[in-house]
Amino acid sequence: MAYATTNPATGETVKTFETATDQQIRDAVARSAKEYTSWRTVPVAERARLMHAMAGLYRERQEELAALITEEMGKPLAQSVSEVQLVADIYDYYANNAEEFMKGRTLTPSTGGEARVVLDSTGVLLGIMPWNFPYYQVARFAAPNVMLGNTVLLKHAGNVPQAALVQEELFREAGFPEDVYINIFASNEQVADIVIPDPAVQGVSLTGSERAGSAVAATAGKNLKKVVLELGGSDPFIVLDAENLERTVKQGVLGRMSNNGQACTNAKRFIVLEDAYDTFVENFAQAVQGVTPGDPMDQKTFLGPLCAVEARDEIMEQVQDAVDKGATVLAGGKKLDKPGAWMEATVLADVTPEMRAYAEEIFGPVAVVYKVKDVDEAVELANSSPFGLGGSVFGADEAAAVEVAQRVDSGMVYVNEPTGTAPDLPFGGVKRSGVGRELGPFGIEEFANKKLIHTP
Ligand code: NAP
Repeated sequence: MAYATTNPATGETVKTFETATDQQIRDAVARSAKEYTSWRTVPVAERARLMHAMAGLYRERQEELAALITEEMGKPLAQSVSEVQLVADIYDYYANNAEEFMKGRTLTPSTGGEARVVLDSTGVLLGIMPWNFPYYQVARFAAPNVMLGNTVLLKHAGNVPQAALVQEELFREAGFPEDVYINIFASNEQVADIVIPDPAVQGVSLTGSERAGSAVAATAGKNLKKVVLELGGSDPFIVLDAENLERTVKQGVLGRMSNNGQACTNAKRFIVLEDAYDTFVENFAQAVQGVTPGDPMDQKTFLGPLCAVEARDEIMEQVQDAVDKGATVLAGGKKLDKPGAWMEATVLADVTPEMRAYAEEIFGPVAVVYKVKDVDEAVELANSSPFGLGGSVFGADEAAAVEVAQRVDSGMVYVNEPTGTAPDLPFGGVKRSGVGRELGPFGIEEFANKKLIHTP
C-alpha cells in the first residue's frame, strides 16, 4: 500500500489508505482551480484571521499532533512537540507579515514615471513533501502561498498519511474554504501525468531527495512550470579549535542526532583542525556512544528509530561499505537486534573518497569525522561536497569563524550553533541541495507574480 502508517518503533503497519483514482485527482485539481478564482479576492486581513486561527489549533492540539507524527515516523516526542510549536509560529508569522510583504517595493524608473512592484497570486500550486518534518515542511510552503491568495494541492510522503489528512482537516477547522488546501493521495505517475501538466497548476514545490527533485523538475520543465526544490544536504561542521569543548561537543551531538539523524540540515561531516582533532574526536565519540536509542513516545528520549526498516538498512549499507574499505568505527556502528528500524548512534573516521559515506548524504545517526591541517583545507573539504545546504563553524574567535562561514558554499551557515530554522529566516541551498528559498520575506516571493504597475 503506497500510503500507510507503519510504526517504525515496532515495524507494525497500523493503518493503510487507498491511492486516489485518476478521476479523484482530476476533480481535486478542478476544485482547487475553481476555489482560486474566489480565494484570490478574499481580503488579506481575512486570510490572516483564518491563519491565526489555524496556528491556535496547532497549539491547542499540540500533544495529539505530536504523538501522531511520532507514531508515523519515529521522531522523539519532545522534538515532535517542538515541531508543532514551530509550525504554529510559521502560520502566525505569515498571518502577521504577508500584507506588508505583498506591498512589494517602489522603483524609480530611469525612463520617468513611477513604478511599483507588488506581489500577486499566481494560481494553483502543488506541494510534494517528505516525511521527516511532516508538519513543518508543509507549513513552509502552504503558509506564504495561501496568504498570497494561491490555492494548494498537497501530496505528502507515503509513510505519513495521517499527518497529511490532519493538516487538511486543520485548514478546514480553522475556517478556510474547503478547497483552499486539498490533500491528494496521488501516485508519482498521477503527479507527472495529471497534476503538473494541468494548465491551472502554476508551480511545484518539492522537498525531498535529489532523485525526486530531478524527476519532478524534469516534468515541470517540460510543462514550463516553476519549481522550488529543497533537497538533500551533507552539511559541514567545522571545528577551528578545542576552546569551549563541552559546548562544541554538545552542539555537535545535537546537530547530528536531532530528528534521529534524518534532517536535511543535520551536521553530517565534522571537519576538525588538527590541533583540536584528538581532543574533540575523543570527547565527541564518547558523547555519541552515550546516546542510547529509546522509545520515541517517552518524553525523555533523544534518539528514536529511523523512519523505516528499509531506511535503516540503507544506512547500515553505507556504514558497512565504509568499514569494508578501511573506515574506523569510533562509536556505535550496529543495528539493534529487535523489530523496528533501530540502529546505534555512530561515528566513523578514516573515510576516504572511494567510500559511499564520503560524498553521499547519510540520512541517519552517523557522523563522519575528518582531520585537516588548516582553515584552507577545511574550507576545501567543506566545499568538495555536491551539496550546499547548511553548515556550522565553531571557534573561540567569532570574527574568524564568520570569515570561514563566508567561504563555505552553502545557503545557510551558523556560527557556534548547529544549523537552525526560524519563521523569519530564509531556508534553502545551492548546488545539488536545491533551488529557491522558503520562509522569511523570501518564501512568499517564490510563487508570487511580481507585478509591475507603472504610472506616468
Ligand atoms: P523522497 O523519497 O524524495 O520523497 C519526498 C517526497 O517526494 C515524497 O512525498 C515522495 O512520495 C515524493 N516523490 C518521490 N519521487 C517522486 C516522483 N518521481 N514524483 C513525484 N513525487 C515523488 O525523500 P524522503 O526520503 O522522503 O526525504 C529525505 C530527503 O529529503 C533527504 O535527502 C533530505 O535531505 C531531504 N530533505 C530536504 C529538506 C530541505 O529543506 N532541503 C528538508 C527535509 C528533507 P512517496 O513517499 O510517495 O515516494
